[in-house]
Amino acid sequence: MTDFRTLDDLNPAGKRVLVRLDLNLPLQNGKVTDMTRLERSLPTLKELASKGAKVIVMAHLGRPVGTDKTLTLAPIALALKEALVPLPVHFCEGPQVLKGIEALGPGEILLLENIRFVPGEEKNDPAFAQEMAQWGDVYVNDAFSTAHRAHASTEGIAHLLPSYAGRLMEEELHALHMTLDNPKRPLMAIVGGAKVSTKLPLLENLLSKVDILVMCGAMANTFLAALGHDVGASLYEPDLISTAKGLLDKGREILLPVDVVVAQDLKDPYPRTCMIHEVKKEDKIFDIGPATVSHIYHKMSSSHTLLWNGPLGVFETLPFDHGTNAVAQAAAHLTREGSIVSVAGGGDTVAALAHAGVVDDFTYVSTAGGAFLEWLEGKPLPGVLALLKKR
Ligand code: ADP
Ligand code: MG
Repeated sequence: MTDFRTLDDLNPAGKRVLVRLDLNLPLQNGKVTDMTRLERSLPTLKELASKGAKVIVMAHLGRPVGTDKTLTLAPIALALKEALVPLPVHFCEGPQVLKGIEALGPGEILLLENIRFVPGEEKNDPAFAQEMAQWGDVYVNDAFSTAHRAHASTEGIAHLLPSYAGRLMEEELHALHMTLDNPKRPLMAIVGGAKVSTKLPLLENLLSKVDILVMCGAMANTFLAALGHDVGASLYEPDLISTAKGLLDKGREILLPVDVVVAQDLKDPYPRTCMIHEVKKEDKIFDIGPATVSHIYHKMSSSHTLLWNGPLGVFETLPFDHGTNAVAQAAAHLTREGSIVSVAGGGDTVAALAHAGVVDDFTYVSTAGGAFLEWLEGKPLPGVLALLKKR
């Protein structure tokens, strides 16, 4: 962690500070429907503004090909303005960037139009990064969620200006460091979700690092089948049975469901809880059962660090949220009590933890999605590497 410069190392007064944020907010009819990412970006913005920086914000929305007015950051600018009252927030488009920056006073914020409108951004074009470097005196990256992409505003620019991690980036890197690089052991990982195929690199990396791996969700079905259990009509991946066997043979402690909640389909009014050997041909497994929850809780109580990705059942459809809720609440309880450090991430995982009402009780919940998963896979993240102090 000492390898990064943070805002503690920067006196931004009077400087033009170029800040990369994740403001890729969900919109419906031009209105922001979830402010989480914007709210998480506020500490860095407020700190820089209060220290007298001229703050220039770069961000993207969606995946435009060239300029695409349906993906303008105008609604985001409005939301940002409201969130930062009484700070002055300006918004400007391509050709006016230089003028907008010149007019900027200390403590003021300028949001630039969708940075992906510029073709050089996603190509990490050195010429565009050079142009960008003219806009600021220093660079702050606070967008961990785009750190798995080497783009001009996330990677190229960091080699051209003195670079710093923003507060959110710092928090995220700290949480990740505490869980996989330097965890207080025993370290438990919980992996759930739908498919083994999308999580193979992640499972391989985790198995080499954790003390115990809990596998639930539909992906556990493939492992149960590999052990010779009949998973009935459940979702599973027959092609991956031999891969699953290989992972099970790695000699790590792996906890799989011992009981499950099954139904004919998601609308079946009579779901049934049964032991894994009692699953019938026509049954579909949609959740873990109470005995499995209690096994997980038992192991979690003797762990000191928990890393979680992937819901344990089809939590979006009640009552198949029970298993995920119960384990989430157990983790929240052990975290509040100070006996575990808990870090979770993944798009659906965040939704599941929000549904269980425990997001604020976890030590850290990452909203980074792809970057979080790539980090779990052990891949180097270009946006993070570029921030490392050059010796
Ligand atoms: P994340 O986005 O957090 O990485 P995933 O995308 O891997 O998580 O998995 C989430 C999905 O897995 C959810 O939509 C959930 O309904 C599904 N899922 C979990 N358990 C099961 C199951 N037993 N059967 C079918 N789908 C499941
Ligand atoms: Mg998902």
